[in-house]
Amino acid sequence: MSLGIRIDAGTRDEPKKFRRRLLAWYERHARDLPWRASRDPYRVWISEIMLQQTRVAAVIEHYHEFLRRFPTVEKLAAAREASVLAAWSGLGYYRRARMLHAAARVIMREHGGEFPANEEGLRALPGIGRYTAAAIASIAFGEVVAVVDGNVERVLQRMSGERLVGEQLWTAANHMLDAKRPGDFNQAMMELGAMVCTPRAPGCLTCPVVELCATRGRMNVGAKTAPQKKREIDYSLHWREENCRGGEVFLAQRARNASLMAGLWELPENFDAENRRSAEPWLTLRHSITVTDYTVRVWRIAASSRSDGKWIPVDRLQRLALTGLARKILRKAGALATENSLQGHGGTE
Ligand code: SF4
Repeated sequence: MSLGIRIDAGTRDEPKKFRRRLLAWYERHARDLPWRASRDPYRVWISEIMLQQTRVAAVIEHYHEFLRRFPTVEKLAAAREASVLAAWSGLGYYRRARMLHAAARVIMREHGGEFPANEEGLRALPGIGRYTAAAIASIAFGEVVAVVDGNVERVLQRMSGERLVGEQLWTAANHMLDAKRPGDFNQAMMELGAMVCTPRAPGCLTCPVVELCATRGRMNVGAKTAPQKKREIDYSLHWREENCRGGEVFLAQRARNASLMAGLWELPENFDAENRRSAEPWLTLRHSITVTDYTVRVWRIAASSRSDGKWIPVDRLQRLALTGLARKILRKAGALATENSLQGHGGTE
C-alpha cells in the first residue's frame, strides 16, 4: 500500500521535513485554547469529550465552568448524575456526560484515582474510543500513537492525493507521527486541518507543508454528503373514545434529560410488532431526521394497560409539546387538526 505524501518514493527525508515544518508552524500559529495550557490527563480528557460534536467556541464557554464545578476526577466521580448533566447543559449529546461520569467512577474504583497511562488502558474506559484514547495518551502521557479525526483525514488525503480509508488512515498517520513530540504533532495535524487545510477552501498559499503536498488544493474532500441510512420503527396508537368527546390517546413523555427532544410527548414504541410481520400496520408513513430515512408503522390498538405514559384528551393535543413525528402521525390519523378523518385505513405517504 502506498501511504502517500511521496513517502515511499525513495524520499525518506520527506516525513522528517513534514514534521519539522508542521511543528514549527504550530509553535507560531496554534490558537491559544485553554486546554492546551495543561497536560493533565483529566483536563485533556474533559476537553476531548466536549470537543466531540461541539464547536470550539461553545466548548470554551463551558470548559472553565465544568472544571470549576468538578476540578478533579474524584469530585466528578462523587457528583450526582443530575449535577453532571446540569453542568453539561448547553453542550448537547448528553450521553457524553453520562459516559464521562461513569468513566470517572471506574477510574476511582478500579485505578485508585489515576488515569491509565496508555492508549489500551484508556480505551477500556466508558465513552473512550480509539481517537480519544490516542489523543489523551499522546498529549498527556507522550505515548507514540497517532490520532485520526476528520481534520487529520483530510490533511492526509490531500497530502498524499489518495483516498485513504479506514485502517490506511491510521497507518499513514502513525507513519508520519513525530516520535519525540507525539502530543504536539497530533495537535498540529488537527490544527492544520481546522485552520488551513479546511474542507472547502484550503489555504495552500499559507500552508507550511505546501511543497510536500501532492494535490495543493486540487483534491475535493470537503464536499462529501453523508449517505442516507434507512431504519424502520413501530409505534402504537392507543385510542379510546368512550371517556370524552373525540376520545383520548395514550402518549409517553421523553425524559427531561434526553439528549434529543427532551420532555416532548410521543407515541409509545411498539416492540411487539416484530412478532407480527405478516399483519398490516394501520398506517405507514415516511419521516426523515438528518441522515436517516425512517419507515414508520403505526399499529392501532384499542386501549392500553401500560403505565409508561398518560391518556391525553384529543382536544388538548394541539397545545401539547409533541415531537415532529408524533404530530405528523396524529395528523395522519385524524386525531390532530382536521385534515384527515378517522374513517378508513391509512395509506403510505
Ligand atoms: S497545500 Fe493545500 S491541500 Fe495541501 S495540505 Fe496544505 S492546505 Fe492542504
